[in-house]
Amino acid sequence: MPVSSTDLIHHGYVPPAGFAAPQPGVFKASTVFFPSVAAMRRFEWKDKSAYTYGLHGTPTTYTLEERLCTLEGGKQCLLVPSGLAAIATVSLALLRSRDEVLIPDNVYGPNKALAEGELRHWGISHQFYNPLNPQDLAAKISPKTRLVWLEAAGSVTLEFPDLLEQVRICRAAGVLCALDNTWGAGLAFAPFDLQPGGRTPLAVDISIHALTKYPNGGGDVLMGSVITRDEALHMQLKLCHMRMGLGVGANDAEAVLRGLPSLKLRYAAHDETTRALAQWCHTRPEFAQVLHPALANSPGHRHWQVLCEGGPGKAAGLFSVIFKSDYSQAQVDAFCDALKLFEIGYSWGGPVSLVMPYQLASMRAHWPDHLAQGTLVRFSIGLEAVEDLRADLAAALHLLS
Ligand SMILES: *Cc1c(COP(=O)(O)O)cnc(C)c1O
Repeated sequence: MPVSSTDLIHHGYVPPAGFAAPQPGVFKASTVFFPSVAAMRRFEWKDKSAYTYGLHGTPTTYTLEERLCTLEGGKQCLLVPSGLAAIATVSLALLRSRDEVLIPDNVYGPNKALAEGELRHWGISHQFYNPLNPQDLAAKISPKTRLVWLEAAGSVTLEFPDLLEQVRICRAAGVLCALDNTWGAGLAFAPFDLQPGGRTPLAVDISIHALTKYPNGGGDVLMGSVITRDEALHMQLKLCHMRMGLGVGANDAEAVLRGLPSLKLRYAAHDETTRALAQWCHTRPEFAQVLHPALANSPGHRHWQVLCEGGPGKAAGLFSVIFKSDYSQAQVDAFCDALKLFEIGYSWGGPVSLVMPYQLASMRAHWPDHLAQGTLVRFSIGLEAVEDLRADLAAALHLLS
């Protein structure tokens, strides 16, 4: 008699316990079975003591959350489908109508778009502050201010803010601060211990991270995390996260788990190559300015030194150049097109080097005084050999002369 479907579905085999291998397993589920009705009534998903539904966590996602807490020095973690979803979760969970959110003027662009395109319709106002002037942040904090976004360094222009002073200002005003920690990746500095050895611990309230970038490292997964050290704050974020139905796929979580063991080595390698290329660009006559926080004359270099000094492994693999203004947009575009190893694409953190020209005038309310006039191009440096990348840049620059 052919096998019954029931025997294939309700199969009695249980593999031996105790399987151990380098990577934790991938557990996939929407439905999770309860051993009894009593257990179903008793199980609590909020404290991660049990499993109740795929969206509320599996062994795979719990494991990734705990490892990310270790990476960033936090205590609680939420996983979301992208870095931008991490930003949106924080803003939506914490802001109410008539509240105001303060955002650095050099922030990751879609954070501005969220405030302008969505939060505004909910009666939530926003102001942009100068990331290089803590007094400007202090002056913009008012009784309406409920949340301050921080980012170090800014992801296109790479100004490094006085993060310590910014956090002190938020603390003194009793306002929550959330850091977009994608650039630092938990490695360049510790977001929950900004002043190691300091008399009182100085920490951000929330650190969000686009795991899309270095933690995954392959350029093939979108994911974000929201990390905290305060249970009540975490629970407020977690309830909003649950109500909005945010979750991540098990295979994607597994890909990030596979990336984490090599994260520190990769980050240091990206950093080393990036600094070498940024310094080389600094010697080239085509550029009015090279932006990388480890370069002595890059905006905010001093603050980077205080928080991150050293390396490799103390800066992300990003730098930008501003072409002298005698180069037209068409010439700069031709330079980008001429590069052979650098692909044209957004994002960063993967093995392939990327290039992207940006229209800075459309990204900032005013052209900042600390940036030269000209067309800005950002490089995300991959894991290729530095001499090959340098030769590629040199060849493309040669076409401009
Ligand atoms: C890429 C990035 C994000 C968004 O991450 P996605 O996963 O692409 O949504 C947020 N912040 C910074 C600084 C980023 O670089």
